[in-house]
Amino acid sequence: MEGKRGEPRTKWFFPVEKGYLQQPTLISNVETFAAAAHIIEMGTAAWHARGIPGSPGTKLISVSGDCSRPGLYEIEWGMSVADLLDLCDARDPYYIQVSGPSGECLSMAEKDRRISMLDLLERKDIRCGGSFMVFNQERDLVRILLNFSAFFKHESCGICTPCRAGNFILQRQIEKIDRGMAEPSDLNDIRHWGAMMQAASRCGLGKTAANTPIMAMEKFEDYFNGRLNKSATALNRAFDLERAVADYEQFKP
Ligand code: SF4
Repeated sequence: MEGKRGEPRTKWFFPVEKGYLQQPTLISNVETFAAAAHIIEMGTAAWHARGIPGSPGTKLISVSGDCSRPGLYEIEWGMSVADLLDLCDARDPYYIQVSGPSGECLSMAEKDRRISMLDLLERKDIRCGGSFMVFNQERDLVRILLNFSAFFKHESCGICTPCRAGNFILQRQIEKIDRGMAEPSDLNDIRHWGAMMQAASRCGLGKTAANTPIMAMEKFEDYFNGRLNKSATALNRAFDLERAVADYEQFKP
């Protein structure tokens, strides 16, 4: 709209502060307009009577995964994770991904946390953008992370190195865990690269791409420790030589 190239830019302001033509700009979606219509109809007092302080009203949440009743739910802000899991009849939930791959992952130890629009970093309430993926014990957590990292690697536009190289490296490290070849230093590498991506990437995609692997390693520590290479020697018994040279087989005389 401003006639510039369609590419991510470094921005230090949200659109409501400086958006289109450096002016305060409101960007609303259908859900916001629907809520505005309800507020006009019901009045602000009735709207604020729903939800919790700081997060009044309701929220649409798309629930998918290992539950008997996946679908779109309208909940009051403040509902607990456990109540939402009951509502969708989750089957033996183990790992929950909130707000997509760049959001927050939860273990069942956090089932009493409330869903709200409050700050993610405070870690009290869960800030939910509208998506809730439920995974049970039968799912391979590392495969879930691999899927997310493939998404970020594909979506990275490649302009800045922390995101372009970082997502590639994260994927390689998670693949290493998947093959049983990772050691504790590899988990530290993921943390180290993730912190660099969070600090130095140019836009939100790179800044948030490492959120889930880092949180998952923190919240599912035993699980990740169980996936490490336990070999006592430097010899990596899990190294798959055939797979490593597969690309060269085609050049055989
Ligand atoms: S963070 Fe990733 S998507 Fe964003 S500008 Fe940098 S390379 Fe592109």
